[in-house]
Amino acid sequence: MLKVALTGGIASGKTTVSDLFQELGTPVIDTDVIARELVRPGQPALARIVQHFGSSVLQADGQLDRRQLRRRIFDQTAERRALEAIMHPAIQDELDAQLDRLHAPYVILVIPLLAESGRQWRQDRVLLVDVPEALQIERLVRRDHCSKAEAEAALAAQASRRERLALADDIILNTGEREALARAVRELHDKYLAVAAAG
Ligand code: ATP
Repeated sequence: MLKVALTGGIASGKTTVSDLFQELGTPVIDTDVIARELVRPGQPALARIVQHFGSSVLQADGQLDRRQLRRRIFDQTAERRALEAIMHPAIQDELDAQLDRLHAPYVILVIPLLAESGRQWRQDRVLLVDVPEALQIERLVRRDHCSKAEAEAALAAQASRRERLALADDIILNTGEREALARAVRELHDKYLAVAAAG
């Protein structure tokens, strides 16, 4: 099965694009959803996070305090690496398990932090949802009702547009109307079916 990693910066349109692929009958696996499941109370990954970071990263109800954890790894490369060493292999294992249960010509793997993770997720190709930063900020502000400064800070904490472009095999430039986006997805759908059929 052809594995297409779908990535892009914050508010670039990954969910919008993956929904369009799903509407065409393509299975979608979202690694953000997997990551959230893996840190639920009782999961081994959460226990390992607490072992490393201490119980201050837990809320009173035993759920992971994401904001606290984000604060602990912000600008702390070693701590971020420690978290990745816990999470990435666990995400890959779950991804593989879900892929084993799927039968389709190709599958979309939503991997928002592909560029930041600095690793392969055993994908065959990378599809980038690309937007100029000004538009990304505009959409982020509109969707999340945050300030422009907050949106700029969120972008600055991620890989750059250039770093993402360097990874891409296919690019959807999401600057147009939603109808144009749907058309671009349909074209890629046909392309991936052809690539999958060619083996
Ligand atoms: P995140 O990184 O936060 O998960 P995302 O990459 O999944 O975000 P979306 O939520 O799909 O991005 O899109 C961001 C916002 O931009 C949403 O409010 C969405 O409705 C809007 N949007 C996406 N594509 C377009 C478009 N072509 N025209 C207008 N608005 C769009």
